[in-house]
Amino acid sequence: MLQATDKYQDIRDAVRTLCVQFPAEYFRKLDQERAYPEAFVNALTEAGWLAALIPQEYGGAGLGLAEASVIMEEINRSGANAGACHGQMYNMGTLLRHGSAAQKQRYLPKIASGELRLQSMGVTEPTTGTDTTKIKTTAVRKGDRYVVNGQKVWISRIQHSDLMILLARTTPLVDVKKKSEGMSIFIVDLRQAIGKGLSVRPIANMVNHETNELFFDNLEIPAENLIGEEGQGFKYILDGLNAERVLIAAECIGDGYWFIDKVTKYANERVVFGRPIGQNQGVQFPIARAYINVEAANLMRFKACELFDAHRPCGAEANMAKLLAADASWEAANVCLQYHGGFGFAAEYDVERKFRETRLYQVAPISTNLILSYIAEHVLALPRSF
Ligand SMILES: Cc1cc2nc3c(=O)[nH]c(=O)nc-3n(C[C@H](O)[C@H](O)[C@H](O)COP(=O)(O)OP(=O)(O)OC[C@H]3O[C@@H](n4cnc5c(N)ncnc54)[C@H](O)[C@@H]3O)c2cc1C
Repeated sequence: MLQATDKYQDIRDAVRTLCVQFPAEYFRKLDQERAYPEAFVNALTEAGWLAALIPQEYGGAGLGLAEASVIMEEINRSGANAGACHGQMYNMGTLLRHGSAAQKQRYLPKIASGELRLQSMGVTEPTTGTDTTKIKTTAVRKGDRYVVNGQKVWISRIQHSDLMILLARTTPLVDVKKKSEGMSIFIVDLRQAIGKGLSVRPIANMVNHETNELFFDNLEIPAENLIGEEGQGFKYILDGLNAERVLIAAECIGDGYWFIDKVTKYANERVVFGRPIGQNQGVQFPIARAYINVEAANLMRFKACELFDAHRPCGAEANMAKLLAADASWEAANVCLQYHGGFGFAAEYDVERKFRETRLYQVAPISTNLILSYIAEHVLALPRSF
């Protein structure tokens, strides 16, 4: 197995020790049953890994983004899928950065202990997609409540969350100077909301990643659940994106190493035409190229972490790390599937499962084109296309 040796070795060893208790058969069975890795997520929570980014004063580990990203990398590198629980690590960032002292005191210690799961974030809508400023879900203030109406789509882990961060329009688009204004962020207590103004319809999809359509019909949320200032929600969401991009990049890198490990081992063992298939340069070179690209993406990921942890701007690096890592893991996935031949398609080899899982990162949580657009327009100052 490819072994990274770096200053995060203690974290790597500890996360690996936990992950080996959840072997491939565990995730294979869950994938077939489309079930949630409850025992795995509980073990990560109890060990404190999902509270890595919560400051110690609220019961978390108070680690930096680099350490948190190593946790996500190691989860995916073990053959698991951090997509089941990464929300618990980063969704609380909005609350931490923009919540009131009372909100932080109320929620963060319980999120750190796992008593409360804040695994869901409701942004995407069916009719507006990536064009987030056009969202149609509204929250209208009525006395001490906001009344929410509208629809969201693709919202993950609702069935395994107590709380959800919700983005809704509080001022109509026609009444704001800038289209990014007039949206607000709320914390929704799902236990109180479901069945009382919020209905949930699961969407079956290609990976074992729970996704749902949400319908809001006069859902009432206490006004105290508004996070930060009304109208600033879009900015708050953007503030959290760099950390999210880097953590997802780390998951892709974990996947990339998993694919390279798997295909290297197989190419050494599988004998056809009287020699291991890995002896053919036609097989070696694509594997070597995929490995090089994972390593290169890893450098950009650590560059982004370093800037983020030093509180310096890292939008370009975080986005580039996400794009490079998603591309590298997808290349590694293709190579791994290809050189397993027919066996790559057999569920018991786990390649097809990981192949499906890593494909998602080209689209969610941000699609590759939108990253290219960010770099083109915000870094290279090319004309805005939208
Ligand atoms: C498994 C899964 C889990 C998800 N979980 C969540 C969640 O928890 N919360 C949440 O809010 N959302 C979630 N999403 C939604 C996800 O963030 C979106 O699917 C993603 O951002 C793309 O949006 P869209 O599907 O509306 O695509 P669209 O915006 O309809 O775009 C379709 C395609 O066209 C491309 N495109 C669009 N406009 C342009 C342009 N101007 N230039 C070039 N290309 C363009 C896009 O890159 C994309 O490839 C999830 C999605 C999936 C599949």
